[in-house]
Amino acid sequence: MTNESRAVLPVFERLQQSFVLGKTRTYAWRKAQLDALQRMLSENEQAFAEALRADLGKSETEAFTTEIGFLISDIRHTKKHLRQWMKAQKVSTPVLAQPARSYLQPEPLGTVLIIGAWNYPVQLTLAPYVAALAAGNCAILKPSELAPTSSALMASLVPKYLDGDAVAVIEGDKETASKLLSLPFEHIFYTGGEVVGKIVMQAAAQHLTPVTLELGGKSPCVVEANTNIQTTARRIVWGKWTNAGQTCIAPDYVLVERGCANALTEALTQELRRQFGNQPLKSKDYGRIVNARHLGRLKQYIDGQEIIIGGQCDEAELKLAPTVILNPDIDTPVMQEEIFGPVLPVIEVSSVAEAMDFIKRRPKPLAAYLFSEQQATQNTFVEEISAGSICINDTMMFMANPQLPFGGVGHSGMGRYHGKFGFDTFSHQKSVMKRSFWFDVAIRYAPASARKRYLLKKLL
Ligand code: NAD
Repeated sequence: MTNESRAVLPVFERLQQSFVLGKTRTYAWRKAQLDALQRMLSENEQAFAEALRADLGKSETEAFTTEIGFLISDIRHTKKHLRQWMKAQKVSTPVLAQPARSYLQPEPLGTVLIIGAWNYPVQLTLAPYVAALAAGNCAILKPSELAPTSSALMASLVPKYLDGDAVAVIEGDKETASKLLSLPFEHIFYTGGEVVGKIVMQAAAQHLTPVTLELGGKSPCVVEANTNIQTTARRIVWGKWTNAGQTCIAPDYVLVERGCANALTEALTQELRRQFGNQPLKSKDYGRIVNARHLGRLKQYIDGQEIIIGGQCDEAELKLAPTVILNPDIDTPVMQEEIFGPVLPVIEVSSVAEAMDFIKRRPKPLAAYLFSEQQATQNTFVEEISAGSICINDTMMFMANPQLPFGGVGHSGMGRYHGKFGFDTFSHQKSVMKRSFWFDVAIRYAPASARKRYLLKKLL
């Protein structure tokens, strides 16, 4: 144990103690805590909306749909299915091991660490916790320091509503995170960028702690000619400019068949005006950039590019207008790094096949989108493109279905959650075989014989 980790050690030990005493294991405790978490969110909806406006300029509607409402619906779904998820799952037993009963018994892992990111600061801290809690774990939550109002609100509300022997919020930056990472958690669930993901995985290796890494990357969006361009544009605008583009599954760039590039950029322009007006920097429905460093990074992306719409910036308010750029050089930073902001490159390609080739030659994205009315094109895309999630003819909507797991593949992350998948992430499926004494086949015992060998060969 290092000196650094001593500061957070008492909290960790308190939670460990509750876990060892079995406090978090019963259905009744988990259900009561889920109820309390739901109450915490609904009774403080306004406070959360204000915190999210302070941190990211989110509108009340956006705060509700993408954070508070999302979490409440996640909790409801979890409560509805929890008894079923907690049940042992029977499996068959081969003849050689008969008579016996075999089953998988889900069990909680212990005390887990959840490190959240700033872009959906409440959702990305509490949705993994819903899963960890449902699975019967104790947890330390470390919200992102880049969304300080939301972080402080969670730190003040969690102890008021939830069992302090089983959950704690520890606020802080990377210093705090690295202190926490030195402790022997049973699981670490990290959401954020790839560079820190590697640090988390390295720290976890010291204790052989398994990790879930919810990372990001460049999520592509392919548009085939002859699709319904108006609806395509509307859905791209929603997916890209919700939270001012600071969404891990936002379409990072568009690859459009040459024949409809003009129609698409015109439709995007119209749709942006319809959704955010002629002065998007003043729209109350349009969020801001998290800080000046990120704003500076985003402004550099559009320097010297062909801007179709947008480009205006309000430095004081940390706002950058929804910006569409056309055919940037693939070697420029905007096409080399994850954009994670309100800039959308539109790149012309000769065919969907060329677009797919482009995607396949790059790291596997967290999400991939295709707009096409051709069944064959849709099937080929789903078959050949590897991504955490794929959505055909829309953006981000798979998040609304708790039956679909959420997580990356390759460089976009490892592990998954949402609904039952989150419960499974925070559970160990213990294999159990129960035998009895009333019948004991002797062929496995010494002394060996040719007859026993013959029978064993038949039975195995
Ligand atoms: P961030 O700066 O909020 O960092 C994430 C967390 O890591 C924070 O809690 C922070 O304190 C912690 N951290 C930072 N440095 C650390 C260190 N050296 N050691 C340990 N912990 C450290 O968020 P970010 O990294 O800017 O997030 C943006 C990235 O996250 C993007 O790539 C985005 O795509 C990705 N993301 C992914 C998801 C997802 O669900 N897959 C969701 C949101 C964001």
